[in-house]
Amino acid sequence: MLDIKIEKVAAPKQHPTDESKLGFGKIFTDHMFVMDYTEGQGWHDARIVPYAPLVLDPAALVFHYAQECFEGMKAYRRADGGVQLFRPEKNAQRMQSTHQRLCIPEIPVEDFVQAVKALVKVDEAWVPHADGTSLYIRPFTIATEAVLGVKASAEYKFIIIASPSGAYYAEGINPVRIYVEDQYVRATPGGTGYIKCGGNYAASIIASEKAHQLGFSQVLWLDGVERKYVEEVGSMNIFFKIDGQIYTAPTVGTVLPGITRMSCIELLKSWGYQVNETRLAITDIMDAAEAGKLEEVFGTGTAAVISPVGELVYEDRKAEINGGVIGPVTQKLYDTLTGIQWGKLPDEHGWIQTV
Ligand SMILES: *Cc1c(COP(=O)(O)O)cnc(C)c1O
Repeated sequence: MLDIKIEKVAAPKQHPTDESKLGFGKIFTDHMFVMDYTEGQGWHDARIVPYAPLVLDPAALVFHYAQECFEGMKAYRRADGGVQLFRPEKNAQRMQSTHQRLCIPEIPVEDFVQAVKALVKVDEAWVPHADGTSLYIRPFTIATEAVLGVKASAEYKFIIIASPSGAYYAEGINPVRIYVEDQYVRATPGGTGYIKCGGNYAASIIASEKAHQLGFSQVLWLDGVERKYVEEVGSMNIFFKIDGQIYTAPTVGTVLPGITRMSCIELLKSWGYQVNETRLAITDIMDAAEAGKLEEVFGTGTAAVISPVGELVYEDRKAEINGGVIGPVTQKLYDTLTGIQWGKLPDEHGWIQTV
């Protein structure tokens, strides 16, 4: 149990009046959670303080060698006014595995969840009410020791900020067009593809820029060794329904183990689908499309929950999926997951924690 000191803001900010214009990650609540790590002392001084800029030494290791990582999760407003979290312990566990890979001292799962709940409680009035809106929560850790040597920092800050965010599909669920990247790679075996660190994203921006210039909304990454097997999309995992069966890449080393991915697999299995966590070659997927067997494709991630894919372009081949409209399994997953997250459906899997 953390002993969290709470210092409330003197002059609370004005809440947004129009929840349809929230967008994503643009405004922040009144408070933030901060906890420090010092070698020899461990994690200490857990506190909730007014949201404010940080003061860091320009030599802080995070600025030079990117010893940094993050998580992403949401708090949802139920119809009865209560607020709830979706599988927060999974984010805590994933952050531990991320910390391990980056040589950052771990934070106990209970402390992480306690900190998230405490911040959401203090800023509860910031959880929006409109359909499909949520409070996006961004925990992150940065190396703060001031020294220009490549090594594990002796000091860190673990911080949680929160941002009221709009409905992802304010204009209805429209399938996205995806560009299969055959030049740049996101992750290689032995690297950091399976953790949520900023460095992965810094290296991926160039491919997203290219895809955007070509008129696509997202990049589908192939494996970093052969550029042959599909791995994931931008900040989402990806699923394929081929001839009645479901396929998604295994999360061994190079693919981020998404909590939405995990939840979809559990739901699909409970509905009787066979889910194959196997490597799938992009050429096999394009062949399946040509044979009329590529039935549905969708991405999964906390922000969009489920994102149907309407078109895949790989080199000179193009696959149009389900006539460019959302497929029935994709729709059922979206309805079920969002139903559970916003408390409109019963929580049969024990995924919900109230704040
Ligand atoms: C966060 C993330 C995902 C999705 O994970 P969720 O836990 O479902 O939000 C997928 N891929 C990458 C690269 C990510 O950073």
